[in-house]
Amino acid sequence: MRVRFAPSPTGFLHVGNARTAIINYLIAKKNNAIMILRIEDTDRERSSTESEQSIMRDLAWLGIKWDEGPDRDGGYGPYRQSERLDIYRTYTDRLLSEKKAYYCYCTREELEEMKKAPDQGAESYIYSGKCRSLTEKQREDFEREGRKPTVRFRVPDNISLTVQDGIKGAVQFNTSNIGGDFIIVRSDGIPVFNYIVIIDDALMKITHVIRGDDHLSNTPKQILVARSLGLPEPEYAHHTLILGPDRAKLSKRHGITSVETYRSQGYLSEALFNYLAMLGWAAEGGEEILQPEQIMSQIDLSKLSKNSPIFDFQKLKWMNGIYIRKYELDALTDLFIPHIARAGYAVETVDRRHLENIVSILRKYCDLLSDIGRLIGIFLDEICTPDEEADSILKTDEGIQVARAAYQFIQSEINETNFFSSLITRMPTSLKGKSLFMPLRAIITGRQKGPELDQALPLIGFDRCKKRIEYCYERYGKGIP
Ligand code: GLU
Repeated sequence: MRVRFAPSPTGFLHVGNARTAIINYLIAKKNNAIMILRIEDTDRERSSTESEQSIMRDLAWLGIKWDEGPDRDGGYGPYRQSERLDIYRTYTDRLLSEKKAYYCYCTREELEEMKKAPDQGAESYIYSGKCRSLTEKQREDFEREGRKPTVRFRVPDNISLTVQDGIKGAVQFNTSNIGGDFIIVRSDGIPVFNYIVIIDDALMKITHVIRGDDHLSNTPKQILVARSLGLPEPEYAHHTLILGPDRAKLSKRHGITSVETYRSQGYLSEALFNYLAMLGWAAEGGEEILQPEQIMSQIDLSKLSKNSPIFDFQKLKWMNGIYIRKYELDALTDLFIPHIARAGYAVETVDRRHLENIVSILRKYCDLLSDIGRLIGIFLDEICTPDEEADSILKTDEGIQVARAAYQFIQSEINETNFFSSLITRMPTSLKGKSLFMPLRAIITGRQKGPELDQALPLIGFDRCKKRIEYCYERYGKGIP
């Protein structure tokens, strides 16, 4: 079994395409098959090397390992379509000489005119076949006029084709309804991907084409080309596309759609992989957090839903939080570091053990790696200016009392060793429980919610705690009550 993921490098890797890659990868691994990465870059205007590189980087980040591709020769290359133009030319010449394809000299304007004909709608437009049987003389005249022809594939009339789709079951097509003779080579001499895909699939010995159902309508055309060239036909499986919460095709206006942005916002590759791999089907036991191996053992094309899955941004975030909480601490600390730096902290100056201790406390409060940026100040800032909630607590009678008691306390005989154990138990105040802890937390951390004080205090350190108490005393402790 050989499968392929065939992105067009015209932008960042979209989560929908990442899902296609993940499905291919899992099915390949499950069956000890080979997975190929083929770059479909014949649209020179829209394709770029940067995009190709970013797609490869994102796939690798997700943990997808292809066996053959532009960077890994497996004997079926080249793996970029732009490097295979000579191969396609041979096939086009064959189709032309066998009259299975023909030159079409219709200009864009003429084609537009045809679309306006009374029985044609732009949607259901079928090429009239005007250039199907030009004489040699007519061709020469057009050439002399300087017209650059396209090449069209001659679609036979009224033949029914049945595709046994691995997800959709039997899908019927009739060649009279697929849009007429379609273009296989543009007037600039570059072949259309819809045509060369099947040549590559055959030459690369692809046995199973697993892709989004936006390509379903291409399938009868590809089968016709394969048959007219005597090429083998792969098996097909077309999965539904991901929709946004409003059931429209998932797009930027719904939220983040590029893998790159998920990464930079602090999603873990394991979580995104897990989420995308589980879209559109469910594990037998209903589990949602699964290792790739567990997903692999359960996933099956026939299990993939025929209905489009809805992308649930909140669920992905929740899943990410679960991964952050169970991740190995050392590795998680490494992943947090760039996000701490991005929040403006000189993280390289923080002792590693200390940093890991901080991470082990803060991970509980992070759904995204970037969440640490607004929390780590508790441990690294000198003063934590109380936020709005903390400020309103510290302005109450209790807040003022605690600010004063804490200040008195640090004036007493305390030092670094007895500070943490006695701050909570020996503050000169009759306030207890929540009335004491909430203001105290607001003073020390500048927030109402967050880590347990007794865990956080030793990591915040004596000097900082002292400074924060002094600061809040100045700001609130001198209040009226
Ligand atoms: N290059 C096509 C795309 O990015 C995929 C073609 C295929 O999978 O057959 O949509």
